[in-house]
Amino acid sequence: MQRRTFHRITPLLALAVAAAFHLPAAAQDKGTVGISMPTKSSARWIADGDNMVKVFKDKGYKVDLQYADDDIPNQLAQLENMITKGAKVLVIASIDGTTLSGTLQKAADKGIKVIAYDRLIRNSKNVDYYATFDNFQVGVMQATSIVTKLGLPAAKGPFNIELFGGSPDDNNAAFFYNGAMSVLKPYLDSGKLVVRSKQLGMEKVGTLRWDGSLAQARMDNLLSAYYGKDKVHAVLSPYDGISIGILSSLKGVGYCTPQLPCPAISGQDAELPSIKSILKGEQHATVFKDTRELAKVTATMVDAVLAGKVPETNDTKTYNNGMKVVPAMLLKPVAVDASNAKAVLVGSGYYKEGQLK
Ligand code: BGC
Repeated sequence: MQRRTFHRITPLLALAVAAAFHLPAAAQDKGTVGISMPTKSSARWIADGDNMVKVFKDKGYKVDLQYADDDIPNQLAQLENMITKGAKVLVIASIDGTTLSGTLQKAADKGIKVIAYDRLIRNSKNVDYYATFDNFQVGVMQATSIVTKLGLPAAKGPFNIELFGGSPDDNNAAFFYNGAMSVLKPYLDSGKLVVRSKQLGMEKVGTLRWDGSLAQARMDNLLSAYYGKDKVHAVLSPYDGISIGILSSLKGVGYCTPQLPCPAISGQDAELPSIKSILKGEQHATVFKDTRELAKVTATMVDAVLAGKVPETNDTKTYNNGMKVVPAMLLKPVAVDASNAKAVLVGSGYYKEGQLK
């Protein structure tokens, strides 16, 4: 009897042993990853944080995720706390990419590795790798969406355009702007596109902290100073939150009506209010950057770095941070407008169809 029981249990035991060999990585403890995100005011950073927590936990890490409310001293304090508590790696999307040098020296002194996440960290040699999207290409896509909507190069024009940039202290902002200008410049040079305000260049068109209400106020000013009789036909916007601010301003003076259609407005991040606006025919386009992929790439980098290996990168020349060229992994952004929004965003499972209503 005892023997038979033993025989019955054996296969179960075998299963248990097999399961033990396939233990999910979560059962291991690979140490803590400190994740420092800039703000919760934009849905994309919330998605980045959530995705990273999931991916790192699945790989067996503990995670210390902090958001800094777009406040630089806050981000520094959160990072110092992570360093004190013994994080093995810091993954940082900086608020101001130039403010972290002292803190990162403290991390380096303790042998903590640093990955710049989405935004390059400047003026520090203590940045090991950079995981991001092709930021220049994002700008190219933003401008191309406008050029296509206006029917350039065939259309005669001239068309009036106003330009908005991102936060001047975010290294990405210059990449977006330069990428966009690489497409717009020939049309500006030929006079097919006209910036009535003559406000060009990041120092004139930047939007501190990517703040949509600042953009709205600047658009109010542009409209009242330069567009009494003339109409604005396009607005280069670097980020969906800014696009929504610009749209509010335009609607305030009668745009986005049958008599006065919305100008062609670009964006970035495929945030829900903008996707809804695109599907309604208001904002023209956005750029989708799949934060799930960025989280995966980042976690793979962290695994490699902690194993003493060299992570895979695909760009070792573009991102000079003032002290060194930071090896980077660039993911591909995807241009989105009303024609492909559902296919791209629902098709990839990023959103559920019901969320777009
Ligand atoms: C990111 C963009 C985002 C912007 C504002 C940039 O650094 O690359 O995706 O739109 O910050 O949050």
